[in-house]
Amino acid sequence: MSKEKVTITFLGGLGEIGRNCMAIEQNGRIVVVDAGLMFPEPNMYGIDLILPDFTWLRDRRDKVDGIVLTHGHEDHTGALRYLVRDVNVPIYGAALTLGFARHRLEEAKLAKDLTFIEVADRERRKIGPFEIEFIPVTHSVPSAHALALHTAVGIIVHSGDFKLDLTPIDGRRTDVARLAALGDEGVALLLADSTNAEEAGFTASESSVGGALRRLFLERPERRMVVACFASHIHRVQQIINVAVEQQRKVVLFGRSMEANVKLARKLNLLHADSSIFVDVDAIDQYAPGQICVICTGSQGEPMAALSKLSRGDARGFSVGSLDTVILSSHPIPGNEWCVGRVIDDLHRTGAEVIHSSHEPVHASGHARQGELRTFHQLVRPRSFVPIHGEYRHLIHHADLAISMGVPSKNVWICEDGDVLELSIAGVRRAGTVPAGFHYIDGTAGDLDEAPLEDRRMLAEHGVLLITGGIDAERGELQQRAVVSTRGWFEGERDKELLLMTAKAVNEALEEALEKGERDAGALNKVAQKAAGRLVGGKYRRQPVILPAIALH
Ligand SMILES: [Zn+2]
Ligand SMILES: [Zn+2]
Repeated sequence: MSKEKVTITFLGGLGEIGRNCMAIEQNGRIVVVDAGLMFPEPNMYGIDLILPDFTWLRDRRDKVDGIVLTHGHEDHTGALRYLVRDVNVPIYGAALTLGFARHRLEEAKLAKDLTFIEVADRERRKIGPFEIEFIPVTHSVPSAHALALHTAVGIIVHSGDFKLDLTPIDGRRTDVARLAALGDEGVALLLADSTNAEEAGFTASESSVGGALRRLFLERPERRMVVACFASHIHRVQQIINVAVEQQRKVVLFGRSMEANVKLARKLNLLHADSSIFVDVDAIDQYAPGQICVICTGSQGEPMAALSKLSRGDARGFSVGSLDTVILSSHPIPGNEWCVGRVIDDLHRTGAEVIHSSHEPVHASGHARQGELRTFHQLVRPRSFVPIHGEYRHLIHHADLAISMGVPSKNVWICEDGDVLELSIAGVRRAGTVPAGFHYIDGTAGDLDEAPLEDRRMLAEHGVLLITGGIDAERGELQQRAVVSTRGWFEGERDKELLLMTAKAVNEALEEALEKGERDAGALNKVAQKAAGRLVGGKYRRQPVILPAIALH
């Protein structure tokens, strides 16, 4: 019997939507699948991005043979620029996927030292210790792939992000025949997208969005139509362009990534549009509102993107008003709801009409719902299953679904970031954990760990306490009694009283320490900090950042 083993280390994406990344290892050789980022929550002050913790991979950089990208979304490719600094190995993916990734890497001035290897649909290629097959799947970006990894202990299928769209815009359907054939051969382990595992039924086809857009445009022949969507959603852009062209509208691409992605997709023949339909934003006023369709970025409320700028009236080139209809052809990613709400409000303030997915079917998800997940399981019929790509509740729902489809419950593994699984001919077992915490990026300060973020949270929620005072070291007594001041407090009567009491507690503690012969400045400042912390924290349940500045003379 084969003693071969394959280990899978989950570095991100399990228990959250974002920063997808895993490492698959056999005979000491590693292939990385995806390296994504996650967007921060509103209480992560000053944080721009969250990455997987790459320490584990960095420590094994000599063992890594390649990075495989399932598709071009940021939650799968956005952390590459941080990973490849230390782990410079060939990057594999579809032409469009690599094009998007390369664009980001060029911005970071890293692309020229890297090797990109394009793969075709259904290609089977040796990468590191594995043969990896790239199976077409439908998703909200063209050229998405599921992977079949042929390993020493059997076939592992990784679904990538997918839905089962039977009427995709480009006619490239999920290759269910190949998935079924793999199922016939026998699949040892399935890892599959859980994003919509809580939702019953089937996700609407991408082509249904085109119908809704067409109707909305037809009802508004005199108005300028401004449609926001993900710049990577080439099929959405294609449908908007098609509707605009039908109505003899000119198309304005607004937003840097929208222009860049459309250019790339046209070059790769994935987006079809005649050059004559495009006009530059500077020429927009030469046309009547009914002759123009603007396609722009910023559908997630990103403050620096085109739609936010339009909502605030500080976009360069044009502004929206009562003659415009703005369509958000999108759905907020968890965490972005507040920002999107802000932008929608501000757009209303401009006088524009605003349409979004809560009242018109102007968006379709890219992820499979329960009906599609069941179909996928039925095709692949895996011996073991791990739900991936989802918050914890999504993983649990997907696990239940897998059991209902016939995977024995002892073969369904709920894993979270940092978990390691080991596969052998005998089956799957847990094999420990590795560090996989959040790695924060602050655009101005660079990389951060948890510590400054904790301070920022405390500063934001509880403000700061500053303790000043002076000590005569020789005499061992207080020269200037400690005074406590604050920033970020309401400073009502109650707070004033609390500050006086805090100062009193600090002075008593300092006197006691001096009596015991303490003369070290650092130690005395600690004493002051502790005394203040005990009072405001213990008695008043506040946790301000406490900064003692007791001077020794
Ligand atoms: Zn995706
Ligand atoms: Zn994803």
